[in-house]
Amino acid sequence: MTAPAFCRTSVGDFTVTALHDGTVSRDRGDGFICNADGADVEAVFSQAGFGPGRLVITFTGFMIVTPQHLALIDPGFGENGPPTAGRIAANFKAAGHAPGDVDRILISHFHGDHISGLLTSDGAPSWPNARVLVPVAEWDFWMSDEEMGKAPEALRGNFANVRRIFGTLGERVERFVWGDEVLPGITAIPGAGHTPGMTAFDIVSGTDRLRFMADVCNNPTVFARQPDWHAAFDMNGDQATDTRRRQFSEVADANIRLAFFHAPFPAIGHIARDGNAFCWLPDVWM
Ligand SMILES: [Zn+2]
Repeated sequence: MTAPAFCRTSVGDFTVTALHDGTVSRDRGDGFICNADGADVEAVFSQAGFGPGRLVITFTGFMIVTPQHLALIDPGFGENGPPTAGRIAANFKAAGHAPGDVDRILISHFHGDHISGLLTSDGAPSWPNARVLVPVAEWDFWMSDEEMGKAPEALRGNFANVRRIFGTLGERVERFVWGDEVLPGITAIPGAGHTPGMTAFDIVSGTDRLRFMADVCNNPTVFARQPDWHAAFDMNGDQATDTRRRQFSEVADANIRLAFFHAPFPAIGHIARDGNAFCWLPDVWM
């Protein structure tokens, strides 16, 4: 990717800017959807525009400029991920800002694609003036030695990454609970299932509203059609689908504008009801 990829929209008095972090394209294998037949999975992914057996995951963080703050939500991989991602800092600069301008970073959950960009590859803070606001339920799980001790092999790297990052950022971290207004106009919404403490954020200014859905689902084109599918990254599949159906129902009925971390760029749009499932209606990138 060579062209800057950022996209601004307004939410009342706030400016919200989608910042593309990049993509990862790989074979889907059999394991990405854990509870559906391979032919059904192939059909739905094909309808969503994926090639045979392919999985393309996109990554998008968000900058929010309010009268009081310049905040980031989920700063992406930074310099610590695959070579096809880690573009948020460059796109943030292309949008006209310097890393020192950020005074708050909101974290939805502690998977590496969402938090690794908090530090540079040298282990220094990437956003030198930012306080980092994290869900207490997420902190309590990933920082627990007991949970780390009983974690399956596949999660060990995640625990180590969390400790590497928050061991460095310690003093800058503030923990919040669901329901807190974490910044003026921005409220933490429960989203557990994908991880134990995953959090969505309602962003409200005046009568305008946008909800950052984080990883309530991976690609919403797929998971709006199949909200009961368990994705491999969902740590508690049943809880993730409960959260997904509850949130999708709420935002569809209230016609709330949405942002997703893993929707195709600029990752903003709406969810509408479609029979017993839903559909994803992306905003047009203008
Ligand atoms: Zn993610």
